[in-house]
Amino acid sequence: MSIDIGKFLATVKEAVKDKDVPVVDLIAVQTQDPFKVLVATILSARTKDETTALAAGKLFKKADTAKKLARLSEEELQKLVYPVGFYKNKAGYLKKLPEALGKFNNEVPDTIEELVTLPGVGRKTANLVLSVAFKKPAICVDTHVHRIMNIWKYVETDTPLKTEMALREKLPLEYWIPVNSLLVSFGQSICRPVSPHCSICPLEAECPQKDVTPRKTKNHPASSYNYISWNVNGIRAIEKKGFIDIVQELAPDVIGIQETKAQPDQLSDKLKNIPGYQSYFHSAEKKGYSGVAFYSKIKPQQVIYGIGIEEFDSEGRVITLEFKDHYLINIYFPNSGDKLKRIDYKLRFNNALLNFAKELEKNKSVILCGDFNVAHKEIDLKNPKNNVKNAGFTPEERAWMDTFLKAGFIDTFRKFNKEPENYTWWSYRFSARAKNIGWRIDYFCVSKKAEKRIKNAAILKDVLGSDHCPVSLDFAFGG
Ligand code: SF4
Repeated sequence: MSIDIGKFLATVKEAVKDKDVPVVDLIAVQTQDPFKVLVATILSARTKDETTALAAGKLFKKADTAKKLARLSEEELQKLVYPVGFYKNKAGYLKKLPEALGKFNNEVPDTIEELVTLPGVGRKTANLVLSVAFKKPAICVDTHVHRIMNIWKYVETDTPLKTEMALREKLPLEYWIPVNSLLVSFGQSICRPVSPHCSICPLEAECPQKDVTPRKTKNHPASSYNYISWNVNGIRAIEKKGFIDIVQELAPDVIGIQETKAQPDQLSDKLKNIPGYQSYFHSAEKKGYSGVAFYSKIKPQQVIYGIGIEEFDSEGRVITLEFKDHYLINIYFPNSGDKLKRIDYKLRFNNALLNFAKELEKNKSVILCGDFNVAHKEIDLKNPKNNVKNAGFTPEERAWMDTFLKAGFIDTFRKFNKEPENYTWWSYRFSARAKNIGWRIDYFCVSKKAEKRIKNAAILKDVLGSDHCPVSLDFAFGG
C-alpha cells in the first residue's frame, strides 16, 4: 500500500488543528531563540509537554542565555528543572552546556555534526533544533513519527534511525520540517501508542492498523463491580477528545457522568450506543446546562430519574440505577456560585438528596457518586485558607458533608488514602493541573452497612478530557 503523503499530512493537520502544539515548537514560535529551543529540547526527552513547559519557564526566568546558565550550580539546576524525567542527568547536561557552546562562540551551532557534540544532544535532538530553530531541512524522528509512518507503511523500518534515513530518501523536502510537529501532535492526542482514539480519527476508514491496535483494558477483580464517576464538563465536547475510547479502555461495569450539558437528541448515535453499554440520560430543561447520565453493562431493575422535587429535577441533577442488592445514585450537586448566590438552593438540594438516599437505604444499600461540589476537609484542596469564603469550601457546605457522613455514609477514597494532594478537579487557568493546584470534590460514598463490600477506591488523575478526572470504586458482589 502506498499513501499519498501530501493528502495524509493534510488530513492529520486538519485533525490536530485544535490540539496542543508540541512544546518545543511552541517555544520556537514564541522566542525564535535557538538557545531556548535547544534547552527545551534537552528537557523534553521522556517528559510530558506540560511539565517541560513549566520547567523551561522556571529555568528561563533565571537563565535565558548560556552566560547566565553558567552561573547556576548543578543543584540549582536540578531544583529548577524538577520534575522533568531524568532531571539529575539533564541538570548535568545543562551545567556542561555553556562550556561546550564556548567552542562555537557561545552560539548554538547549526549543523548536525556540531550539535551532536553538545552534552545531552543526540541525533533526534539535533534534527529538532535544526528544523525548528534554524528552519533547515532536517527530519526529527521520534517515537511518534517512527510508529505512525510504519503503521501506514510509508516506511518499513525497525528503528527511528532507519526511519529517518528512509524518510530522507522518500519524503518530499517540503514536509521535512512539519512532519515532526504534525505527527507528534497526532500521536499524543489521537493516534496514541496505547488505546488510540480511532473512533474520532479522520483516517479510520483507510487505516491498516484499525482494530488490530492492542487496546489496554483494565482487569477488574472478578468478584467486584467496577464503578466510575466522572464530571465530563460537556459530553459533546469530550466526545471529540476520545470519550468513547476512554470508556472502552477503562471498561467499568457502570460509569456515571455529570455535566452532560446536552439533551439525548443532541447526541451522536455513537455516544448513545457505546458497544456493551445501555445508556440512560437525565437532562436539564435548560439546554446546554447540568445533566447526568449512566452507561451500564448491567441491566438495572429500575431507573429513577430525579428525586421527585420539581425545582431540582428540572435541572437534571440526579439519576439512580436500582440493582439486585443496591442502588447507585449519580449526582451533580449544585455549585454555590459567584458570591454564593445559590448556596441556599444548594443546601436545600443537599438535604433533599440526603432524605432521598436515606429513603432508598431502607430497602437496600446505597452508593452515591458524583461531583459533590464541596471539598470536605482542608486536606482536600491545595489552598484551604484562601478559599473559606468561596463556593465549595464554605463552612455551611462542609458542615453538610459532616452531616451527610454522620448519617451513615463512608467517603470511600479516604478509607484507603489519607494523604494530601489527591485532587479530582483543577481550574483550567494558571496551569493548575500541571502544578496540582486542585480540589477533591468528586466522591464515591457508600452506606455504612455495606462497608465490607468496599474493595478499593481511587482517583484516576491521569485520565484527561475534562477539568475533572474520574474517580472509581470496586464494590464486591453481594452475598
Ligand atoms: S485509525 Fe487509529 S490507529 Fe489508525 S491512524 Fe487513526 S488513530 Fe491511529
